[in-house]
Amino acid sequence: MGRLSGKIALITGAAGGQGAAAARRFAEEDARVVVADVRDDEGKALADELGAHFVHLDVSEEDGWAAAVAEVTEVYAPPNVLVNNAGILHFARLQDTTLADYQRVIQINQVGTFLGMRAVVRGMVKAGGGSIINVSSIEGLRAAPLLSAYTASKFAIRGMTKVAALELAGKGVRVNSVHPGMIETGMLPNALGGQAVDLTFAGKKVPLGRVGQPEEVAQLTVFLASDESSYCTGAEFVADGGVTAAHSLSSFG
Ligand code: NAD
Repeated sequence: MGRLSGKIALITGAAGGQGAAAARRFAEEDARVVVADVRDDEGKALADELGAHFVHLDVSEEDGWAAAVAEVTEVYAPPNVLVNNAGILHFARLQDTTLADYQRVIQINQVGTFLGMRAVVRGMVKAGGGSIINVSSIEGLRAAPLLSAYTASKFAIRGMTKVAALELAGKGVRVNSVHPGMIETGMLPNALGGQAVDLTFAGKKVPLGRVGQPEEVAQLTVFLASDESSYCTGAEFVADGGVTAAHSLSSFG
């Protein structure tokens, strides 16, 4: 019996990157996995490979959430694990950040997380419990230049996680945030217009000496989805190779 046996896990942004890594690990641990994404071809291919279910979901759309949760409920049962993982990155100086770009990032990262939690909570409470994992970032803990909208969205996710955790603590629903550091996925290249990015230099600035892999975040997500984390709620779980242990005047030796 796997560590996630009995779990029905809806993972957003699961067609690639960290979401896909989580979907793979969850399936290995016997969860019934729902791969949710706007990228239908990649999402369906992964779901077929894992024996999972694919649902088209744009996390920024309220109606989409209702339809997705209804579909999962019909196929399996109401989700008792939600990984709010979908997110986008946008680089721009504050004075060059358009309102449209700012709102796009907030709508997907922040509003999407809010809508996701709200969409599953009644079902989880009715079923007697669940686990919600909100993927923030080290930019939900510390600031980075050129990332006004992204940093705002990730701080907001950290905050709303704690409110939800307090409201739901007596109902058996745990809510935690995950704060990855620099992880090797398509996110950074996509935000830089699709160009290849050599992360070796960035990796050397990390105390552990390298950037992280999506599977290393997925391990943490499995723990939070499982009953092994039964006493964890409202907490911040960092997987950043030691980056946030330092302050900006320190050197790593
Ligand atoms: P990624 O770009 O590889 O994957 C993101 C996935 O989200 C894609 O499959 C994409 O199609 C999907 N997506 C985008 N907009 C969506 C929407 N509106 N609705 C549904 N799906 C949507 O990125 P990743 O690195 O795997 O990022 C996953 C999460 O981890 C994000 O929330 C990101 O902010 C966070 N994160 C990433 C890093 C990193 O260095 N890669 C660091 C910290 C936090």
